[in-house]
Amino acid sequence: MASEKLSGDGSFTKRCHELLEHRYGFQQALLTTSGTDALELAALLASIGPNDEVIVPSFTFVSSANAFALRGARIVFADSCGDNPNVDPDELERLITPKTKVIVVVHYAGMACEMDRIMTIAQHSGVMVVEDAAQALDATYNGMPLGSFGVFSAFSFHDTKNITCGEGGLLVVNDSRYARRAEIIREKGTNRAAFFRGEVDRYGWLELGSSFLPSELNAAFLLGQLERIEDIQARRAQILSTYLAELGPVLSRAGIDMLQPRARCVGNAHTFYLVLRSLQERSDLLQFLSSHGISAASHYNSLHRSVYFRSLHGDRALPASDRFSDCLLRLPLYFGLHEREQAFIVESVRGWVKALSPR
Ligand SMILES: *Cc1c(COP(=O)(O)O)cnc(C)c1O
Repeated sequence: MASEKLSGDGSFTKRCHELLEHRYGFQQALLTTSGTDALELAALLASIGPNDEVIVPSFTFVSSANAFALRGARIVFADSCGDNPNVDPDELERLITPKTKVIVVVHYAGMACEMDRIMTIAQHSGVMVVEDAAQALDATYNGMPLGSFGVFSAFSFHDTKNITCGEGGLLVVNDSRYARRAEIIREKGTNRAAFFRGEVDRYGWLELGSSFLPSELNAAFLLGQLERIEDIQARRAQILSTYLAELGPVLSRAGIDMLQPRARCVGNAHTFYLVLRSLQERSDLLQFLSSHGISAASHYNSLHRSVYFRSLHGDRALPASDRFSDCLLRLPLYFGLHEREQAFIVESVRGWVKALSPR
């Protein structure tokens, strides 16, 4: 407030950009007003149009698809892996056509997709990869930060994410050929950023764009969060490892899947989820937990079955995505979750699982 500069791209935004570029080695970090906006900015930068196909996992948030659908692209939904919600690389191989321009990968729960294979597939077919890393800040694959694989990557700072400023996002540009256009499209299609750096003596309209930059108020809040990221992540990791240790054996014995550590991936403790054996079983557990004051939650409904899209999808079945839609349940995981509260959640879930009839 004291700086009197409240609109975007002031000193707080700059410090966020520097911190993110330095901590993760991103080429160019640009704060946006949301993760959704970062994806829309990516779709504009990739020059997506009506003749393009974009492959998107069906088990994701609407914005992963919406951003490209808004540009007129044909969205082709891909199924998840059998054992986790991320996109199945075999599906990508099957679905790529000469019209495919972009593959959107979503690192669900902050656990990386199989990026080695996906990048190889993309390179062979000349397709761009855009990472929807909305949930994946601070996670890595083969030691590389998520968000550094795609040409473009989108992060979210929505208050459901690990690091937040209420509503906010980040576009990462990993190919310097797009650096200047990214800055222009983000500033209403103008070279205002270059003007403020003193590089030109007036700014003008150079191409289509929109207003993607957050205010300094949001950036200042975000900087406060980013400066505490080690503490926030450490506490979340502790909560996640408690869930894994305390619930893992009980759940496995009952044949109930859950988030599992995966080779080459270091997650960011964004979510801890179970995968129940049926929709009915998930409804029962949600109801049971809710009656004990525990707010567990399901997650995405397969987008290929959504009201908006189902008539455009045809009848290609995506059974893995549907299973996660029907059976996945998330337990509370947030910085302020008290140990006592987590112990109560663990006891409640254990009690419910033990009362299940064996299958
Ligand atoms: C949160 C999220 C988004 C959207 O981010 P907003 O900042 O809410 O616009 C997009 N994709 C995924 C996978 C998300 O989890």
